[in-house]
Amino acid sequence: MNISIFLALFRSVRSKCPNCGIGHLYYKYLKLYKNCNNCNEELGCFRTDDFGPWLTIVIVGHIVVPLILYFEQEYAPALWLQASIWIPATLMLVLYFLPFSKGVCLAILWKTKDKN
Ligand SMILES: [Zn+2]
Repeated sequence: MNISIFLALFRSVRSKCPNCGIGHLYYKYLKLYKNCNNCNEELGCFRTDDFGPWLTIVIVGHIVVPLILYFEQEYAPALWLQASIWIPATLMLVLYFLPFSKGVCLAILWKTKDKN
């Protein structure tokens, strides 16, 4: 079955197998299963390396930095207040987007390797 890159991306960003869309990609937050638990597609062979963290930094940076600059320009809150808001917000956004970013990379690798 020929699966489009868009469908593979859609499935992977939801942390599902790019081949079947049912099996889970990760255990222990970001560890890839060696094989899909539904269709047995090999997933553990794809090395996403630093692409996921890189994409996460790009996404979160484009969300957090404009907000920080806006609030600094408009309200100029105390430094301790900004730190107590932006540091946890950034950490939560990073943890939220990491599986998404890794899924993007996995879908691209999976699709480019699959030549059927
Ligand atoms: Zn699968």
